[in-house]
Amino acid sequence: MAEKPVCSQPRSAAEWRSEKPLSRARAGDLALLMGPDRRWQIVRLEPGQSVHTHRGVLAHDDLIGRPWGSQVASHTGQPFLLLTPSLHDLILRLRRTTQIVYPKEAGYILLKMNIGPGSRVVEAGSGSGALTAVLAHAVRPDGRVYSYEVRPEMQQLARRNLERLGLADVVEFKIRDIAEGFDEVNVDALFLDLPNPWDYLEQAHAALVNGGYLGSLLPTANQVTRLLEALESPRWGLVEVEEILLRPYKAVSARFRPEDRMVAHTGFLIFARALLIEESTG
Ligand code: SAH
Repeated sequence: MAEKPVCSQPRSAAEWRSEKPLSRARAGDLALLMGPDRRWQIVRLEPGQSVHTHRGVLAHDDLIGRPWGSQVASHTGQPFLLLTPSLHDLILRLRRTTQIVYPKEAGYILLKMNIGPGSRVVEAGSGSGALTAVLAHAVRPDGRVYSYEVRPEMQQLARRNLERLGLADVVEFKIRDIAEGFDEVNVDALFLDLPNPWDYLEQAHAALVNGGYLGSLLPTANQVTRLLEALESPRWGLVEVEEILLRPYKAVSARFRPEDRMVAHTGFLIFARALLIEESTG
């Protein structure tokens, strides 16, 4: 008797598709709608609502229940893609009144400062909450982000942004001038995104665990040299300054090349480790 072949007839794409359970958009989900010209917007799906785009109107009721990754037409017949937004997309569309930490820096900051599930992280200031969102997403479910901000109206915006993204549960917001110091001790990492980080190194050192990670983002070289001067102390080590350049490309096979424009500068990243200098016992 002939043995049964291990692999029978290859399945068609349609057969694969018919067995795959589809993931669908539900009421309350955030959805990214991309038009034919690659312009996109993010909406929260709510029954009875509609979204007005540059290429026509889409009713939320036509989107709710539809599979992610499918195409849907606006009332003028223009095709839109229905996709889940990534944290990257959400950060770029955050409501903001400050400069924010952009995704190209934020992702690297996480790896560089070893921030992951369970980490306890301090940041100042909260600003619009862009970095707060990335930190919160990374430390979940058991970690904690302590976000300090001197201006109450700023922190209100950051808090609302985090609530909209469903990430506020791991964040403790505190309104304070960090010159007064931090409540936490032995935190794993501490990030200073404000114009004069050199003024708060003592407070940062007191909050960090011995050997912990300090990070900062500064737009000008003048600020970087000032911070470097302040970090030239036995209490800090492994000081590094880095800059991240991101060059986007036209993702079209027939004319694959860099985009004409790129963002030339956002900021310099400065990293250091908090050292434990034993007091001399004589
Ligand atoms: N990382 C934020 C942007 C921070 S903007 C984001 O990604 O959205 C810098 C913020 O630091 C401002 O909101 C400012 O009010 C705050 N700030 C400046 N000095 C401060 C201080 N001494 N204590 C607390 N917050 C401060």
